[in-house]
Amino acid sequence: MNIQDILKSQREFFNSQKTKDLSFRKAQLKKLGEVIRKNEPFLYEEIYKDFGKSKYDTFTTEISFILNDIEFYIKNLNSLAKPDHKATNIVNMPGNSRVYYDPLGCTLVIGAWNYPYQLSLSPMIAAMAAGNCCILKPSEVAEYTMKAMAKIINESFDSNYIFVAEGGVQESTEILKMKFDKIFFTGSTRVGQIVYEAAAKHLTPVTLELGGKSPTIVTANANLDVAAKRIVWGKFLNAGQTCVAPDYILADKKIESDLLEKLKFYIEKFKYQPESSHYMKIINERNFDRLTKLIDKEKVLLGGNYDREKRHIEPTVMKNVTWQDAVMQEEIFGPILPVLSFETLDEAFSQVEAHDKPLSAYLFTDKDDEKEKFTKRLCFGGGCINDVIMHFGNHNLPFGGVGASGIGNYHGKYGFYAFSHEKAMMDRATWGEPDLKYPPYTESKLNWVKKLL
Ligand code: NAD
Repeated sequence: MNIQDILKSQREFFNSQKTKDLSFRKAQLKKLGEVIRKNEPFLYEEIYKDFGKSKYDTFTTEISFILNDIEFYIKNLNSLAKPDHKATNIVNMPGNSRVYYDPLGCTLVIGAWNYPYQLSLSPMIAAMAAGNCCILKPSEVAEYTMKAMAKIINESFDSNYIFVAEGGVQESTEILKMKFDKIFFTGSTRVGQIVYEAAAKHLTPVTLELGGKSPTIVTANANLDVAAKRIVWGKFLNAGQTCVAPDYILADKKIESDLLEKLKFYIEKFKYQPESSHYMKIINERNFDRLTKLIDKEKVLLGGNYDREKRHIEPTVMKNVTWQDAVMQEEIFGPILPVLSFETLDEAFSQVEAHDKPLSAYLFTDKDDEKEKFTKRLCFGGGCINDVIMHFGNHNLPFGGVGASGIGNYHGKYGFYAFSHEKAMMDRATWGEPDLKYPPYTESKLNWVKKLL
């Protein structure tokens, strides 16, 4: 069957009303959980082929997220899908007001390669929980994981409900010509614009989970040891190929050299070396070549070596970096950590504000007034104080960007809403209605109306 026919069959299936049944949704989610558990060893093998990701990292950053999402939606589906009772205003009394969470219908999820299972399956799981059909197009860049998802899902589920479409830019372009009821895209800001344009042709609502340069500000009042340890972990996890990784550090000049020492200490302590099983390869040669061009040997404090054949780049810290350097012109998305400095916190904020709104931002400090200033002043998708990345793992928080880093959000209940239409419904009583709204209108009616409205 070609992809047009699959979408057609999904529309027919959606129109059959079957996906609206909560027990159907729960059964399908449960089944997906079983399919993933059963195929866990296979999923580990395939991601290892793509970029050398270990079982530990695959479980903690991919599989556990997916299984937790499934469990969350099964457990919370009744309350999430329950119509919300709302107050009825005086002019509509007597009546009953509710918000219904309608599934949007036929949805499209386009995934990125860097956490290939999680970033493809989590949105699809939210789409299923909200009662939709779904076509998932994972990233072809992580080819083995794309094929693995297609195999286990297409063998286990009817394509008229959920289907994994393999393919790259050409297939994605063809799919985007079709009319969906929702498009959920994770990827670069550049392709996000292409997706948004394609969606606009059908007035299809979108969630765009994009990227950008996420700043990490370290003030003179930070616990430098904790800061260095957490930044090093968050930056070199997945070899820096993480959308919410600290892209660059802005350090107070007073503590800059101490911080650099500690960064060095933790990179060595954590053994982020090409031969370590917990240190990943760069996904492909294109990205490898892009990244190595960003390394200015003159500014390298630590690392800076690479091996093209193995697609390994050492964890690299660069100092004395300025906004004019190549490494500051684009999202790095690799194991290169530039360190810039500031004299006042306001100046640091201005540096961030002079660029696109980031997907994440981080602040390390023990001072409450600095925490408050950071939170109130800067506009970014989400972030942490005294940590990096970890906000992503709290499903009670919405996850998404703002401006160039994205539109909309998901995770937990927000994922359910991302794939639902909030339908406002009023059920009016057929009694007790004053005559005020009906003509002919008199002075006395106007006086009453003025009091009521
Ligand atoms: P990408 O934009 O190159 O690709 C994403 C998806 O779009 C892939 O499935 C790809 O096949 C498809 N695609 C690529 N070019 C296309 C085109 N011209 N037309 C239609 N579809 C096209 O992104 P990527 O390299 O997979 O991921 C890296 C980027 O994604 C980084 O910027 C990163 O920050 C961002 N990202 C964001 C999040 C988030 O949750 N906000 C998560 C992961 C990655």
